[in-house]
Amino acid sequence: MLVFVLNAGSSSLKYQLIDAKTSEVKASGIVERIGIDGVLKHEIGNNRKLTFEAHIQTHKEAIELILQTLTHDDTKIIDSIDEIDAIGHRVAHGGEYFKNSVVVDDEVIKKIEELIPLAPLHNPANILGMKICRELMPNTPNVAVFDTAFHQTMPEVHFLFPVPHEDYTEHHLRKYGFHGTSHYYVSNEAIKLLENKKDLRIIVCHLGNGSSVCAVRDGKSLNTTMGLTPLGGLMMGTRSGDIDPGIIPYLMEKKNMDTHQIIDYLNKKSGILGVSGISSDLRDIISAAKDGDQRAQVTIDMMCNRVKKYICSYAGLLGGVDALCFTAGIGENSDLIREKVCHNLEFMGIEIDKDKNSSKESKVKEISKDSSKTKIFVIPTNEELVIAQDTYKLVG
Ligand code: AMP
Repeated sequence: MLVFVLNAGSSSLKYQLIDAKTSEVKASGIVERIGIDGVLKHEIGNNRKLTFEAHIQTHKEAIELILQTLTHDDTKIIDSIDEIDAIGHRVAHGGEYFKNSVVVDDEVIKKIEELIPLAPLHNPANILGMKICRELMPNTPNVAVFDTAFHQTMPEVHFLFPVPHEDYTEHHLRKYGFHGTSHYYVSNEAIKLLENKKDLRIIVCHLGNGSSVCAVRDGKSLNTTMGLTPLGGLMMGTRSGDIDPGIIPYLMEKKNMDTHQIIDYLNKKSGILGVSGISSDLRDIISAAKDGDQRAQVTIDMMCNRVKKYICSYAGLLGGVDALCFTAGIGENSDLIREKVCHNLEFMGIEIDKDKNSSKESKVKEISKDSSKTKIFVIPTNEELVIAQDTYKLVG
């Protein structure tokens, strides 16, 4: 069963064509800078990479070009778009309404629209992706897979904020959490590695440009670091993560900022970029720190300390940790960050093996010492596969 997985952002579109039964990725790619110079980067299987400078101006043009690339000329891998059995959409915010993936119909789109105030940057683009696919492929079913759904098992004690209760009942103010498909995939892979034992206590560190930690008990999300929006929790590429809320009015007054400007400041100019003054890409910071840049070193230490803070907090909630998992761009690729995060956690049974940690293997690997009570794993995430499999389960 061929599933076209679509992750529509405000100016970009990521996609994969996946055989949901075999997990084979037939093609994948990204359209970036839609409305500016609109470039399509397309990959066939795992090897043939192509770039089209297409000056794509709208999301519809982008999807049309992707479908044309899949079905025409020497890039063709299917004869017609009718061979696509279903479309799986990544949707940022499902609020409290969507606890699982759903088949898209008019009612579902209306509900996702109602949730726009909770995800003003992401949900509109996700809805646009669904509407265009329904128009271009009217006979193909669409499924929405929500980034928040996995965290709907969090109990009230973890999802409520310490503010007056009517803000939750009247304004839906609560922690929702994000990266749900990634936390689900990685924790589920860890459960398999631990031979499907019952009641496992797992902590997943999804460390990428956006980052979050999740405590998983018996396969269910118990707590996670992102909050009402993806701005909460860890220090990220350009996002501040948790800060003293008093900073917001202080800065607004000092720097004469309005609401839009302060949100932009905390989302796009803070985190690793803001503290280092160099870049949001941790590779640049690691290389600057190696060259003796003190601020780069502080940036790395701040980032790792915050991950550590949540690992310790969640270990306390879970009453111990059977597996600590690292995933996403930083978690999968940086042995330095994994080592720093695990440093000094030996007292709670987390012992990293330096040699295993520095092995360059890009597959799943265990990097804990034999004596470590907690298994430490690196598990490459695969959100697209979860979306394809959920889509297959619902319409297959
Ligand atoms: P993601 O959002 O999961 O795609 O992760 C992207 C981020 O991973 C980039 O911004 C980089 O900071 C980071 N990254 C990728 N490779 C490495 C590496 N070898 N060392 C440190 N950071 C890395």
